[in-house]
Amino acid sequence: MTPPIVEFRGITRIYPGPPELTALREVTMRINRGDHVAVVGPSGSGKSTWLNIVGLLDRPTSGTYLLDGTDTAHLDEAARTAFRATRIGFVFQAFHLLAGQSAVENVMLGLLYRGIPSIRRRAAAMTALARVGLTDRAHAAANHLSGGERQRVAIARALVGEPSLLLCDEPTGNLDSANSVRILELLDELHHDGQTVVLVTHDRGIAAQAQRVLAIHDGTASEQTRTQP
Ligand code: ADP
Repeated sequence: MTPPIVEFRGITRIYPGPPELTALREVTMRINRGDHVAVVGPSGSGKSTWLNIVGLLDRPTSGTYLLDGTDTAHLDEAARTAFRATRIGFVFQAFHLLAGQSAVENVMLGLLYRGIPSIRRRAAAMTALARVGLTDRAHAAANHLSGGERQRVAIARALVGEPSLLLCDEPTGNLDSANSVRILELLDELHHDGQTVVLVTHDRGIAAQAQRVLAIHDGTASEQTRTQP
């Protein structure tokens, strides 16, 4: 049986301070291959802390984190960086594109440091741009794209390396409502194509569209029961 993509066993994260602050308490949860999970909670509940640990940007104080079946505690910094690059595609609220570079060049950055020749990186980037419906804008500079288009480029950049997990942090936070709906529809399509998608948001309306909702409250996580339509 394939292992879960993400498995937390009793994960605790304490910021030493002072004052010392327990941001996650004994969190045990799983994300399985093909899941579409929204992680919700009010500001200060521990969502960023959870995301930073899942994304291998931070380490837990205690507990075990298995990513794709690998115990991440056993990875040194170089191995964590390499593992992160191949397993996780990040999408951020603020897009983080290189403004003067074209869409396709930005997407190619998602394959940097893989030792892949530029011609193949470019071809993979064009495929990823097609998946997000942006073939026509591939050669436009990022700073000439609309907010919704920029986020599509960022999603293509996250997808180009075929990550196990697409990890989206408030991906519609900088978009108007029409573009937000389109981005959420795109994430839904990617999920239907088999991509594991995690979306962290403070917005319960956005979370309602996911297949699973994990609520974080005061450093503890609980699954919310959903009725499938
Ligand atoms: P959210 O993303 O849900 O807003 P966070 O994970 O950022 O929540 O924060 C959870 C708690 O941990 C909050 O009380 C926050 O103030 C605290 N916190 C976050 N980062 C740090 C840090 N680097 N040092 C100390 N406390 C922190």
